[in-house]
Amino acid sequence: MRSPSACAGPGNDFGAVTGPKRREDLSDLEGYHSPQVDVAVRLNTNESPYPPPPEFFEAWTAEVSRADAHRYPDRAARQLRSALGEFLGVPAQRVFCANGSNEVLQTLLLTYGGPGRTALVFEPSYVLHAHIARITGTGVVTGERRPDFTLDPDSAVRMVEDQEPDVVFLTTPNNPTGMVEPRETVEAIVERIAARAKPGLLIVDEAYAEFSPWSAIDMVADGVPLVVARTYSKVWSMAAFRLGFCVAPESIVEELEMVVLPYHLSVPTQLAGTVALRFTGDMDVRVTSIMTERDRVGAALAALDGVEAFPSGANFILFRTAGGQTTWEGLLEAGVLVRNFARWPRLDDCLRVTIGRPEENDAFLAALKEVLAS
Ligand SMILES: *Cc1c(COP(=O)(O)O)cnc(C)c1O
Repeated sequence: MRSPSACAGPGNDFGAVTGPKRREDLSDLEGYHSPQVDVAVRLNTNESPYPPPPEFFEAWTAEVSRADAHRYPDRAARQLRSALGEFLGVPAQRVFCANGSNEVLQTLLLTYGGPGRTALVFEPSYVLHAHIARITGTGVVTGERRPDFTLDPDSAVRMVEDQEPDVVFLTTPNNPTGMVEPRETVEAIVERIAARAKPGLLIVDEAYAEFSPWSAIDMVADGVPLVVARTYSKVWSMAAFRLGFCVAPESIVEELEMVVLPYHLSVPTQLAGTVALRFTGDMDVRVTSIMTERDRVGAALAALDGVEAFPSGANFILFRTAGGQTTWEGLLEAGVLVRNFARWPRLDDCLRVTIGRPEENDAFLAALKEVLAS
């Protein structure tokens, strides 16, 4: 960062440089911290360990080379949305796409949150829900999970009723805990919002749904206050592209399109999302092998003395050791980077390991055994 005095160069006679002042409501905001350290084994950001197949890149670059680069992209992303709709078994009018599901969530909050409105989150969960809420001026109401990170559906429904949040976030499988929310909990919250006099919306973040036993997408219908957000970043091995989407009632998709910046989704991004859907077989193979590895790593963690591993329906596992911070440092020294939650509220001594390739998982397990023994 440049200090204010560094801006006052020669010939600058503007006087004392004060610089802009950020919004009062953002004064205690912290950025998104997930350190990117250069080590041999990086298992910290839940990406896929496998790139898309070479045929994907061939098909995508061929499409990009034929694109009208001098024209703005299709604002409605029709090709991508209809391909996605077909893949998901939903009408294209119920699909909204953006630059990563984070932009989907931001657009939802710009539309249905904002000043004077609130979003309910159940912690611990994905930090960006509360973060994006604050950035959009939305008040954050925090509900608590049980010590084992499960959500008590009755208290969740009570909060929806008592606090009357405009937006409710639920993440399933949850990040960073990995736990799959039962369908009944999602149904109970949607029903309560629908029955409430004050309108509201449940956003189910399904960034990891393909690794889990069920999805709320089939509950989305016109008139139901439910949106399901998905991403190409994890399962589709396309984190670098920044593409996400949500399935929502048609009226909500129309409103999101009004709020999001025009032409926000570039032609190469739209084409990447469409072309990727020709390779669903490859995706299924990747998902299956990652789930097999997840179960293997989970069993190995559970067998270790001094490790508490939490059940996961995603491509990562949360675990707790006696000295989480020391364990994290030891793993890093051994060349294995995992996500450090050891000093986070509610997540004392917890670390999260992304499932990688079998040899990366072996390296992680071997390093962990060594660290715990020392
Ligand atoms: C990784 C992740 C996302 C993905 O965000 P993108 O912007 O699509 O990369 C969204 N939600 C959760 C819970 C995640 O863990």
